[in-house]
This record gives sequence, C-alpha cells and structure tokens, in this order.
Amino acid sequence: MNVLVINAGSSSLKYQLLDTKTREVYAKGNCERIGIDGSFVGHEERGGEKKKLEVALPDHKTAVKYVFQILDEAGFDTAKIEGIGHRVVQGGWYFPESKVVTDETLGWVREVAPLAPLHNYAEADVIQICREMFPSIGNVIVADTSFHYNIPEKAWRYALPRDVVDKLHIRKYGAHGTSHRYIWRTTSQFLNGDVHKLVSCHLGSGASLAAIQDGHDMDTTMGLTPLDGLIMGTRCGTIDPATVCYLVREGGYTIDEVDTMMNKQSGLLALSGVSSDSRDIEAGAEKGDKNCQMALDMFYYRTSQLIAEMAQSMHGFDTMAFSAGIGENSAEMRLGVAKELEWLGVKIDEKANEVRSDEPRVISTPDSKVKVLVVPTNEEYMIALDVEELLSK
Ligand code: ADP
Repeated sequence: MNVLVINAGSSSLKYQLLDTKTREVYAKGNCERIGIDGSFVGHEERGGEKKKLEVALPDHKTAVKYVFQILDEAGFDTAKIEGIGHRVVQGGWYFPESKVVTDETLGWVREVAPLAPLHNYAEADVIQICREMFPSIGNVIVADTSFHYNIPEKAWRYALPRDVVDKLHIRKYGAHGTSHRYIWRTTSQFLNGDVHKLVSCHLGSGASLAAIQDGHDMDTTMGLTPLDGLIMGTRCGTIDPATVCYLVREGGYTIDEVDTMMNKQSGLLALSGVSSDSRDIEAGAEKGDKNCQMALDMFYYRTSQLIAEMAQSMHGFDTMAFSAGIGENSAEMRLGVAKELEWLGVKIDEKANEVRSDEPRVISTPDSKVKVLVVPTNEEYMIALDVEELLSK
C-alpha cells in the first residue's frame, strides 16, 4: 500500500511516502518554519540528493498542498496514495492502539491536547486539512503513547492524591512508543523469536527506554511528558520534582521559564556547555574538555541505571537494543553504557561495535549474558503498517 506518513509540529511538517510491500521510500522531506519568515522545504526522492526549496508556507494547509504538489512534480501520481498516517504525540486515554480518523477520534486528539499543547493542536489541524482536501483518502492516527498505555498500574500510577490525578488525568504516558514497538518487532524477527525480555533503548536528541516482555510493554522511562527519565540533548530528565518549586520561589523564575530551562537549556547541552549533539561532546572530551567528559560520564551512568530499572520491571533481561541517532551511530556512547552494565554480565565485542551499517546487528560477545544489538528504528514504516492494517479492514 502507498502510504503518506505525516509528522506535524507547530512550525514544521515532516512527510514520507512509502510502499508497505516493498518498504521503498519514494520521497521524504520536511516543511520548516511554517508561519515564520524564511520557510522552506527540504525534499529528497528515492535516496537522491536533498533539495532545499524556498517557498512561502504561511500555514499548515499551504504546507500540505505543497507536499502533494512536490510529489506530483516528482512524477508520483498522488491519486495513488491509499492512506495517510498521522503521528500524534499524545494519545491520552483514548488511543491504546492506532485508530482510523473520524469526527470522534479527531475530537479526542484535541481533547487530550492540554497534555501536549505544542504538538497535538497542530497535528489535529493537519488531520482536518487532509480530510477536507482529500476526502477519498483514509487517515489513521498513530499515537506515540499507545504502546505504553497498558503497562501495569503499579508502573503508570503516580503517588499523588487520587482526586488530583483523576481530575487532571495525571499518569505515566511515555513517548517514542511507535519506535519501541518497531524495535521489538525487528529484534524479534532478527533473532527468530529468541527474545523475551528486551530493554529497548531509543537514544536520540529525545531519549527513552522501554521494558518489553514478549511484545508487551512493562514500563518506560518518560512520564506524564517526554521530560522524564534519561538525560537528553537539551532536557534534564529525572530530577527532584521540588527543584521546580525551588526555582520559582528562590530563583525568581516564572513557571514558563522553568519549563523552557528544563526542556531546552538543560541535558547534555547544559552539562557540556558546548552542544546538545553527542558528536560535538565526544570531540570535546577527546580534546580534554572536562565538562564534555562529565556529560558523557553522566549519560553512561544514568542510562545504565535506568536500563537496570527497566530490567527490574521484567525481573531480568535477555536482550537490549540500541536505536535512534545516538544509539545507531555512536559506538562510544554504546560502549560507555555497556561498560557500566558489565557487572550484570553485559559484554560488548568492541570490533563489532565499531561496524557501521543500516541493518540490525549483534554487538555483544557470544558469552555475554545479555545479547546487545543495534537496531535502526523506522517509525514511519511502523506507522504505515498500522495504516495498511486499519484501512484494509
Ligand atoms: P530526534 O529524532 O529525537 O531529533 P535523532 O534520533 O535524530 O533525534 O538523534 C539525534 C542525535 O543523534 C544528535 O543530536 C546526535 O547527538 C546523535 N547523532 C546523530 N548522528 C550521529 C552520528 N553519525 N554519530 C554520532 N551521533 C549522532
């Protein structure tokens, strides 16, 4: 099936057109700076050169129109698009699985939007635009939180007053669920089913872990929002929650300033003082920059601690898989994390760890108690598979 996958943000819109049968990606790109001066589209076809097209994108509707136009110009008959898959950041309590877009399901995306205001409103608008512009194409909502929705209550419940959590729908929702689902699926296929307790490590500029037992999610490191858990590019991850109150009371920051600080000015960026990008930090540490080295040490420490926490939620683990920007590309980060886990019997084959490839691969030694893999993620493909499944019904 030819599926267009759309990932809309407040000022951006990523797209990918792919065939679920062949997995071929016809085209992909990103509309940037929507509603802001200097908007443009980065577009590439069938793995060709990336083109930067400077076009006025005053709103999301223009961006969607432009995506269809650019695909038509590239020689792809957009009448052959059979479904559109929409990534939605927050599915709240309505999307334990992906759902076909109807007035009702679209209403749910807006209803839970206060939990992810920067994303859900824009996503809902784009879904509505697609329905209006292309009424004959089916649309599917794939929420990033779905995979985590059925983790055990002891894992998702917060120890706050019940009336408060009930009224405001406070719980662990997690994120990166589509990626973790894909990582489980691929790991299981690659190991011919010989995986039962997997710690899935999605380590990109946003980063989270999931404990997956026989395909079922048991726990994850992100919480009510994607700020919780690991140290990330610019996010602080887990800290004492009272720090928020202290910053407001004693530091004189507004609550919005604290929000920005914790989401955009913290994490590896704050620790290194250099960059949020692991490549720059690795280069800095190589040159003897102590803050960069501390950023790396803390990343290894926290990530390994939380891997052990995920393993605890399954009473053990037989496999772990590294994925996303850092997990797929940084041999140094993988080794740093794995070394912290040596006491649990994790052993990395340093040569295998250095191999670069787009394919899933094992990087642990044969005598390692836990198999360690690198599994390139592919959220778009996972979304497209959901579209195919739901629209073929
Ligand atoms: P997201 O999708 O959350 O924006 P990605 O999964 O693309 O993030 O990961 C981005 C991060 O991955 C970068 O900030 C960088 O730290 C790291 N990264 C990407 N490519 C490489 C690479 N070739 N080598 C090392 N790190 C990389």
